[in-house]
Amino acid sequence: MSWEGGCLCGAVRFEVTQASFQTDYCHCRMCQRMSGSVLTSWADFKETDFRCTRGEIKYYKSSPHAERGFCADCGSSLIQRPWEGDYIAVATGSFDHPEEFRPTNVHCGIESQVPWLEINDNLPRKTTKEAMGFEVEN
Ligand SMILES: [Zn+2]
Ligand SMILES: [Zn+2]
Repeated sequence: MSWEGGCLCGAVRFEVTQASFQTDYCHCRMCQRMSGSVLTSWADFKETDFRCTRGEIKYYKSSPHAERGFCADCGSSLIQRPWEGDYIAVATGSFDHPEEFRPTNVHCGIESQVPWLEINDNLPRKTTKEAMGFEVEN
């Protein structure tokens, strides 16, 4: 099995060759600013199961804990890569079939969940501190 995805303009394409081991929502302020949206969703993969197949992903240090990767041509946010751990998180909306990556693990970053967003699932809710061990500044 493999799953493909890419950025909005098409300059960057990627694929993963093993199933995601964890899928999350994140409401944290970093993800909000990165995406321009109030809620993001992520699928985690072993780094060795991910490869860029066209173009190049550009990275920047988004916090002391991780770097984030995007397409330098169109700005689409694609992945985040923690310094610790050998996994990467792919923004599920960048997959060709995002419907295949339903978050099943947790709502992370709920300290920043906007009050008008109603969510009717039973997934655990965790603050960034509870889920990741650090706090996010605004
Ligand atoms: Zn692009
Ligand atoms: Zn986040």
